[in-house]
Parts: sequence; structure tokens; C-alpha cells
Amino acid sequence: MEQEVGYVSDASVTDYQHGTSDLPTEWARVRSRLQGEVGEVEYRTWLRQMSLGSVEGDEVTVLLPTRFLRDWVRSHYGDRISALWQAENNRVRRVDIRVGRAAEGLATSVNSAPDSVAAASQAAAVAPTALTEERSDGRGDGIGLDLRFTFETFVVGKPNEFAFACASRVADKPASPGFNPLFLYGGVGLGKTHLMHAIAWKLQDWRRTGAAPVTVAYMSAEKFMYKFIAAIRNQSTIEFKDHLRSVDVLMIDDLQFLIGKDNTQEEFFHTFNALVDAGKQIVVSADKSPSDLSGLEDRLRTRLGCGMVADLHATTFELRISILEAKAAKASVSVPPRVLEFLAHKITSNIRELEGALNRLVAHSALFGRPITLETTQEVLHDILRAHDRRVTIEEIQRKVAEHYNIRLTDMSSARRARNVARPRQVAMFLAKQLTSRSLPEIGRKFGNRDHTTVMHAVSRVSSLMEGDASFSEDVELLRRMLES
Ligand code: ADP
Ligand code: MG
Repeated sequence: MEQEVGYVSDASVTDYQHGTSDLPTEWARVRSRLQGEVGEVEYRTWLRQMSLGSVEGDEVTVLLPTRFLRDWVRSHYGDRISALWQAENNRVRRVDIRVGRAAEGLATSVNSAPDSVAAASQAAAVAPTALTEERSDGRGDGIGLDLRFTFETFVVGKPNEFAFACASRVADKPASPGFNPLFLYGGVGLGKTHLMHAIAWKLQDWRRTGAAPVTVAYMSAEKFMYKFIAAIRNQSTIEFKDHLRSVDVLMIDDLQFLIGKDNTQEEFFHTFNALVDAGKQIVVSADKSPSDLSGLEDRLRTRLGCGMVADLHATTFELRISILEAKAAKASVSVPPRVLEFLAHKITSNIRELEGALNRLVAHSALFGRPITLETTQEVLHDILRAHDRRVTIEEIQRKVAEHYNIRLTDMSSARRARNVARPRQVAMFLAKQLTSRSLPEIGRKFGNRDHTTVMHAVSRVSSLMEGDASFSEDVELLRRMLES
């Protein structure tokens, strides 16, 4: 989520001014270099709508009006934009590309290159409104919810069904016994924020229908901290506390951010207690379970864990397929099943990446008027696919699988055919096919110079065994996950 785009600390703006450089002029030069490099057509298609967001310390934010453009620019030009900017000003370490729109004023001032002081403070001034497009909800609640993150658009599968059920329950009946607090946890891009927004949307729908008045506050832990610090600075901590304590449902996303931020944790803890004692609902997300969030105060961890704790597991192949199907249908594009399967096999890390890959395919096909095929997919996504391949080698797969089934590593390439050796070898071949971009003959060679038809047979054998045998299938999934992590 892009909640924090508006935050520009005063100190960092000042830092930038003290440099010899001039932000808008640099930006204009970066743009024109880029234009020169990529050519007019590409520039107009993808880059023209870029605007300057904000500057914070050594990080500059560039805005694009839609998620779609952002993903595209990030993956195709992100490195180049950073490099060009560093060439202009070596104090810029990172260029963050986000969704948002700068106000007219800034766009003009960038072109006419006023002095950096004015530009930088303007950047700070426009930043808070930069997310209007993604945030505007037509329902006027203005708490920064993404329109697309609802229960209806959440695809349910084995890895997330429990979390989904808990979230629905809380949205239907906040503060029911046993469900307060609701603690959602899981790795990056697995749907925590999506579920939290879905709860908030549902609660607000409820409010709109007049059934029961429910006020919801949703914010990331980072934002919670910024607001808290700002309140201290403005001597308005009492209002801040009163406000938080007046809501019916408080949702804090990415709580792990509070680790090491002791004062903010303390404040959160008090708010938390006050709300729970008053029978209000708390929903929290984090990247780990309460007991694994070391660095969080013990009493806070204890209280967080004493309601309902639900985790979002790593995705399975089936879930990835369902998600891709849902997203393709939503975008009204036809993507051949083979391509969906290919993507679901190759991009296993998280749903955000999977979505990004699909978006790119769709954009490419729309832009060039070419249908999506396996060939275009491999071409368009070659960089992403390569990055994923690099994660695991055939040797690693052989080692892990041998270890898992307790056989010797040399048996991966030996001629022994005993079932207890042959089956793990087939599993390793299957995983090599799934997790690397090696061809069948290449894989065969690594397994004691076996023929590619042997590998093919292994792949289909393992697939069919997985369909018929749940515990075998779990075993293979587990191995895959271990290899990918
Ligand atoms: P997290 O907060 O866990 O890092 P997000 O909730 O931001 O992850 O999800 C990342 C992206 O994946 C979002 O665009 C979200 O809509 C999408 N997504 C995650 N889980 C699902 C799901 N089960 N069905 C559909 N989309 C999902
Ligand atoms: Mg999130």
C-alpha cells in the first residue's frame, strides 16, 4: 500500500537545500536524458506522466497516476531513472516510484526550474494529496482504503481460508468474544492489507446502510508513529489519543514497524488496552506471529496473541492459478491457460509479483496488439523470470531433496532404480523443472546424464502422484517452499 507518500520530514527538505544541487533542474535533466535514451514513442507511452513527488533524505519520490503505469515504469525504467539521477546528484541514493499525482503548481515549477527551496517545500505541500486517485472512494470516508481491496475481490484458497474467515467474521460482528484482537500475519504480498481494507469497507458499508454506526480507523504502524510524533510536536497528544479512543474499530497494518520504537509502542499499548476494555475491536497485521515478533514488548505481545491469530500461508499453485484467472477476467483479457500455468509455476514468491507480471503481459499485448502466448510471455517477462531462476539451482534442489528423503546425494545421479531412491530423484527432477528455467535435456544431464524423456516421465509421474496422494503432494509443496525461501 502507498499510505506514506505524503510524509516529508522538514529536516530532509532542508538537507537537500543545503546541497549545491537543484532538485527541479535535476529532474528536468533526468527526464530529458531518459527521453533521449528510450525514444519519443516509448517516452510518450510510459514516461510522460511522471511527476516529481517529494524528497526525503537521500530518497526521491517519482509519481505516476496509476498503479499500472507505476509497475511498468518501476520494472522497465526504475534502475535507469535511479542511475540517471545519481549521475546528476550523487547524494540521491534511491528513487521511489509510486502512485500519485503532483499538483499542477509543482509540475509547472519543475519545468520553469525555480530555486530549490520553493520547489522542495512545494513538493512537501503537494505530497499529502498525491494519492487522491487511489484513495478516492466515492464514499467520502477518506481513510485511505484501496477500492479494489474488498472481500469480493479476495480469492480464497487453502493458504488463506482461515484468515479470510476470521476477517469476514470480524467485519460482520466486530468485537465478538474470541476474535478480539484479530491478529493477521504472513509474508510480504500475501494479502494482509487486502483483508484489512476489506474489513474496513464492509464495516463502512454497514454504516452507510444505517444498520449500526461503526467508526473505523485504519492506518499503517508507520503512520501511527508519524501521527503520534506530530501530535507531540504540536502539543496535541490529548486530541490524538481521544480520537483514537473514540473509534469502534482500530486497525493497524504492519505492526512490525513498531519494533524498536519504544515510545510509540507504549502509546499503542495504552490505546489498545483502552479500546479492548471498552469492548472495541482491534485488528492488527504483521509479518510474523505475536510470539515471533521479538523486539516487541512482552506484555504487548501477550495481549496481541490472546484473541484470534490467523496466518496467511505461502500460496499454492492452485491458489495462484485462481488468482490469475480472477485478475485476467477482471481485466477482460483472454490469457491462455498454458500461460497462466506457466506464470503460476514460475512466480511463486507472492501475489503482488504475480499481479505485476500479469499486468505487464496485458499492457504489452494491448500496446502492441499482439495476443498473449507462451512465447510473448517469456519475452516480456524475461527479467522477472531470470530473477526467479537465480534463486535456486539444480544442485540445491538435489541436496535438499536428498536430505529430505534421507538418501545420498550421489544417488541423484546414480543408476540405482530402487523405489526409495528413484522416487526422490523424480521429485528432484520435477522441482528442477518447476523452479528453474533449465530445459529437459539440461536437467537430464545433471541427473547422471539421463535422457530428456526420463525427466519428462518424472515430471508427469510426480504431477499425477500429487493429484492422487495428498500427503505426497504436501511433501513436495513443502520442499518447494523450502527451496524458494
Ligand atoms: P501484504 O499486505 O500481505 O503485503 P497485500 O494485501 O498488499 O499484501 O497484497 C498484495 C497484492 O496481492 C494486492 O494487490 C492484493 O490485492 C493482491 N492479493 C493478495 N491476496 C489476494 C487474494 N487472495 N486474492 C486476490 N488478490 C490478492
Ligand atoms: Mg501490506
